[in-house]
Amino acid sequence: MASIQIENVQKAFGKTIAVNHLNLDIKDGEFFTFLGPSGCGKTTTLRMIAGFYYPTKGVVRFGERDMTRVPPEKRNTGMVFQNYALFPHMTVFENVAFGLRVRKVSAADVKGKVLEVLRKVRLENYSNRQVSQLSGGQQQRVALARALVIEPEILLLDEPLSNLDAKLRDEMRAEILRLQRDYKITTIYVTHDQAEALSMSDRIAVFNYGVCHQVGTPAEIYNQPANDFVASFIGEINLLPVQVNRVEQENIAVTLKNDGEPVKLIVHNHANEGELNKGDLAVSIRPEAIRILDTAEDQTNVLKGKIEAVQFFGSIVNVLVQVGHVTLRVDVLNTHEFGYFYQGKDVYVELPEKQLRLIPVISGD
Ligand code: ATP
Repeated sequence: MASIQIENVQKAFGKTIAVNHLNLDIKDGEFFTFLGPSGCGKTTTLRMIAGFYYPTKGVVRFGERDMTRVPPEKRNTGMVFQNYALFPHMTVFENVAFGLRVRKVSAADVKGKVLEVLRKVRLENYSNRQVSQLSGGQQQRVALARALVIEPEILLLDEPLSNLDAKLRDEMRAEILRLQRDYKITTIYVTHDQAEALSMSDRIAVFNYGVCHQVGTPAEIYNQPANDFVASFIGEINLLPVQVNRVEQENIAVTLKNDGEPVKLIVHNHANEGELNKGDLAVSIRPEAIRILDTAEDQTNVLKGKIEAVQFFGSIVNVLVQVGHVTLRVDVLNTHEFGYFYQGKDVYVELPEKQLRLIPVISGD
């Protein structure tokens, strides 16, 4: 088993900086996810850990060992690719045995190890099948077995579920987590799917344009996004541009930047102090954190608005409320009688101060 340290790593391809100023500290046995949109540098980072690419600058360590320029075959990492990269005309057994044969493991040990790992991925009855005769989910299990059979210190998974349909994806998510817990293996999982990242990971690193914007547990990333990119890449969010009026010990008073009447809010949480002193700011709040009220007294963070649209999603009702010149998305549980929320209804919205977060705006328009 191994921890992984990435220290000030950069990777350039000619003039393209694919990854920049990257620092990560991945713990032994952790399920760690690289999340971000296409082209943000996830795969390049994974490949630097596998040894397929060497960094242009910086250091990669497994535990105390400097691995920066160690070739892939000397790293003891197992990798699963999006397209599985199996040998289609070989049997399941031979595909899984391949890595062991390259390592000159004895025939008896090959058989024992391959059958054991096939049992783990529940394919023990398929060992003589050709890979081309298997379903997508089964092929993915073969790819996992092939990566695990060499008993790697680190398992690297590059969008392993993106070729599967939604139901199989759910099954395979559970399967991968079960295997990871069984083997207690340090695992890095690359995905652009935020639901996958939130539901599977111990921690997540969120990337964009080669830069890691935040590392945290799923709850930290969701509840305390570091900036507007992280906030809007993960789930739905209301982002309201603001200017700061007054900073007190715990609270910050802000005014909504719109051309209507100034609306004041009190914010309890805020990102890194230093970042708040420069550039544009917004308050963020999740749609499920906003409450819709019929009446209001003189309460903090209660604003007058009008329902603009209502959409019914079964368990959730999505209500768009216009407040001044901004539209807030509010998700309420389907516990009101049908028709309770309707277009044109005058309401109040409460933005609880503990659920509001003041963050820097880093994305351009
Ligand atoms: P995807 O989800 O689409 O695989 P990604 O987040 O994994 O995207 P990378 O594949 O790491 O992104 O690519 C990061 C950037 O580096 C992109 O701009 C890409 O075009 C560039 N890049 C990646 N590999 C190479 C290469 N071998 N040569 C030149 N540029 C590359």
